[in-house]
Amino acid sequence: MKIPSCSECDRPAAWTRPWDRKRLCLLHFNTAFLKRVQKTINKYRLFERNDTIAVGISGGKDSVVLLDTIVRLQKKHQTNVIAITIDEGISGYREDGLKYAKMAAERAGVEHVVYSFEERFGSTLDETLTLLDANTNGKRLGACSYCGIFRRKLLNEAARTVGATKLATGHNADDEAQTVVMNLFRGDILKTLRSDPVPNIKHPLFVPRVKPFRWTTEQEIVLYAHFNNLPYQEMPCPNAVEAHRGIIRDIMTNYMEHTPDALFSILTSADKLFEMANAVTQPKIKDKIVPLKPQECIKCGEPSATRMCKACQVQDMIEVAKKITNH
Ligand code: SF4
Ligand code: ZN
Repeated sequence: MKIPSCSECDRPAAWTRPWDRKRLCLLHFNTAFLKRVQKTINKYRLFERNDTIAVGISGGKDSVVLLDTIVRLQKKHQTNVIAITIDEGISGYREDGLKYAKMAAERAGVEHVVYSFEERFGSTLDETLTLLDANTNGKRLGACSYCGIFRRKLLNEAARTVGATKLATGHNADDEAQTVVMNLFRGDILKTLRSDPVPNIKHPLFVPRVKPFRWTTEQEIVLYAHFNNLPYQEMPCPNAVEAHRGIIRDIMTNYMEHTPDALFSILTSADKLFEMANAVTQPKIKDKIVPLKPQECIKCGEPSATRMCKACQVQDMIEVAKKITNH
């Protein structure tokens, strides 16, 4: 069977883009991939000339490809890029991810720093879960809730410590569209409005987050890793059972078999909402849709939406659990 040729040249096509049926050879796939990421960076002004970019890298496909992409795109600007890995302390999983994260940083030629829950918060995620399991009558939150609370805080502290002015994460178009739909299904569209892709400095201690893969699909990221020989951790986290997101993902995958560009339509809708929200001037409405200005946590002094940050609240719970366990 003859392999169809690329829509841009005579080379054999390596992939047909589902949403516009465009056929791309390896070279033109890479060009199109980098072009869309650059377009995303420009659209939301994710980076500025003097930025130092911290890239959160877990060792999974999204972050490994993100680091490669950012380093390639920023080469001409000589931007300082630093890779940060958070070691949550998930036995049998994180060790493997760390290996891939280290490899990716070496290949990209960037400094790589590792910050651990154990060092910063006094216990690994595994220890925290065991402790809370034993002291909450099985009423603790899901593992990802604690993991997310601590990771967000530590990533911000780590990015600030290494002097980063932006913190880039590997959330892709699928993740972003799923989040919009999840918020809608939960009756919480305001939550979507609070995650404007344009980075705003909300607090001097807060390093603004950016998502350069907002318009890049998961399938493209897997292909990019494959075409460019970028090894990544394929083993899923043993705690990864976010049931609700799984259901939404299945519904969307099903729907997109017939309408492959639906993912982009969802993101376009979200962007229109941001535009409208940003144009609101009436203080009463604005207060509802604009994220609360972070205050400083009364315990640790880090930026927080609440009087005491969530991480400190959980740490207090852990201290209580430890005391009970030791008695
Ligand atoms: Fe943490 Fe959940 Fe991700 Fe595992 S799946 S690393 S527990 S957030
Ligand atoms: Zn705190």
